[in-house]
Amino acid sequence: MEKEVVEYFREILLEQLKMLLGKADESVSDLMMLSDDSADPLDHTSNDMARGYTLRMRDRENRLIGKIHQALRNIEDGSYGICEMCEEEIGIERLKVRPVARYCIQCKQKNEAYEKTYGL
Ligand SMILES: [Zn+2]
Repeated sequence: MEKEVVEYFREILLEQLKMLLGKADESVSDLMMLSDDSADPLDHTSNDMARGYTLRMRDRENRLIGKIHQALRNIEDGSYGICEMCEEEIGIERLKVRPVARYCIQCKQKNEAYEKTYGL
């Protein structure tokens, strides 16, 4: 992949990472605000639900953050944009939609059933 193109995706990934990390901070303070011990049992239930939701969101964010870190490492070692399964180029159009993509569209489709099953 051309150096300029790789740089373009690096910028996008860093930008996404910055946004996610900013958001992660917000989730943490949300979580702190929810952790007060309310005497009202009804309050407690809704707090638990909200906390569960926040934790699920954070889990998704953390996974994406991990994927972005991986993509940035791949940029460093020159393997960014190469499909991990068939070692063909993933393609710029696909990377524009999903900069953290590790597989080309063909391999992705083969993996789809697997990912659906395990919710990756
Ligand atoms: Zn592939």
